[in-house]
Amino acid sequence: MSATAPDAPSGRATADLEADVIIVGAGPAGSAAACHMASAGLDVLLLEKTSFPREKVCGDGLTPRAVKQLAALGVPFDGDGWIRNRGLRIIGGGVRLELPWPELASYPGFGLVRTRYDFDLILAERARACGAKLLERTNVREPLVDERTGRVQGVVATGPDGEQVRYRAPLVVAADGNASRLSVALGIRKRDDRPMGVAVRTYFDSPRHDDDYLESWLELWDDTGGRRTLLPGYGWVFGVGDGTCNVGLGILNSTSAFQEVDYRSLLKRWTQSMPEEWGFTEENRRGGVRGAALPMGFNRTPHYSRGLMLVGDAGGMVNPFNGEGIAYALEAGAIAADVAVQALSRPTVQTRERTLMRYPDVLRDAYGGYYTLGRYFVKMIGNPEFMKYATRYGLPQRTLMRFALKMLANLTEPSHGDAMDRVINGMSRMAPTS
Ligand SMILES: Cc1cc2nc3c(=O)[nH]c(=O)nc-3n(C[C@H](O)[C@H](O)[C@H](O)COP(=O)(O)OP(=O)(O)OC[C@H]3O[C@@H](n4cnc5c(N)ncnc54)[C@H](O)[C@@H]3O)c2cc1C
Repeated sequence: MSATAPDAPSGRATADLEADVIIVGAGPAGSAAACHMASAGLDVLLLEKTSFPREKVCGDGLTPRAVKQLAALGVPFDGDGWIRNRGLRIIGGGVRLELPWPELASYPGFGLVRTRYDFDLILAERARACGAKLLERTNVREPLVDERTGRVQGVVATGPDGEQVRYRAPLVVAADGNASRLSVALGIRKRDDRPMGVAVRTYFDSPRHDDDYLESWLELWDDTGGRRTLLPGYGWVFGVGDGTCNVGLGILNSTSAFQEVDYRSLLKRWTQSMPEEWGFTEENRRGGVRGAALPMGFNRTPHYSRGLMLVGDAGGMVNPFNGEGIAYALEAGAIAADVAVQALSRPTVQTRERTLMRYPDVLRDAYGGYYTLGRYFVKMIGNPEFMKYATRYGLPQRTLMRFALKMLANLTEPSHGDAMDRVINGMSRMAPTS
């Protein structure tokens, strides 16, 4: 099958472009979904408003969970531009602890760093190589909705030359990021009972650029209003391997300080407090300080409605424990593809719809309990006393911190794991999935 234009060989008399699936947004979620769907033989249109390569605000850190998905997509990660890491270094409460990624059969024992500047390009090219049709500089304006059924039938977009184009498909995927204009247009809004974070980052030329550990600083102090408050969040230093470090911080909305904090100045004060030889100075700064939201714990639902699937940040799929979003965007892309491929092979509209309606359940089964635990965690660390206690007494306990790493990075063996894995999996299973 291939996308059909008005003068296409099939001679279909339509002014619109058609496909089996339209995916809006070629970030990690959209490109992963496109790659898996096209590999299964679906005719996929991947619409992206920017053109690659392009800057994307991110920490650029990939845990073993994300690496596993890159392998599943057939993305080679051995060459130039990739730098491996062996684990997480945690700094706080006067303690500096190096925790290697857990040894698991289900996940690789290493993470990666690659700037989003070309990471997203690599993924989009991979989607294209799998057979998806990628259209850049194509800004999707609104969904095309059938007036009679209320079902999404496609999208209206503005093309590179300002032309308005209508694209039609029986299934549309919103992979358009945190703001997800497409979801909003269908009335699917953010939930304020779910955690939200804000993160800012910049790059510095630094001798620490080839660090083989991801580094995370647990103590971020805010002095707003003359009071010193320990903030719920963390700062990071991720060596990019190209002479620079990605340095940033993220804060959760579980504290009253959330609205008031000046994130850029907090980042500045924090980096100024670091050893001078690391080079995190104004002269060494490469590019601006830029920030964006972290939509967590399924903060936009339902994930399927009337012909529209939500994937990645559009569906609020960032892990509330650690702010990681790329792995979940890639995984959700694979899950969405699996459901879509099955649905589109069903013979009737009813059976197709019944299969698509399974998508939110599959996501809930995969992450629901774990994200509920993440919501409790976000509430707990919103209490500065808990944070102080945890950093002072928890950090020095190496076994406890190995457990914390597995829990926070969601890295356990799904079955036949060790005692820690069984406790974490058991808690996730027991937690309500709503
Ligand atoms: C400061 C910061 C640091 C972070 N650090 C990390 C980290 O180190 N590791 C990690 O795993 N996660 C990190 N995250 C989270 C991570 O960046 C996101 O979870 C991830 O990008 C989600 O991928 P996505 O494909 O769902 O959305 P996005 O990456 O946002 O992609 C959405 C795409 O849709 C396109 N688009 C939007 N609207 C339209 C439209 N109307 N028409 C066409 N195209 C459209 C956009 O241009 C974009 O390409 C960080 C986030 C922030 C803000």
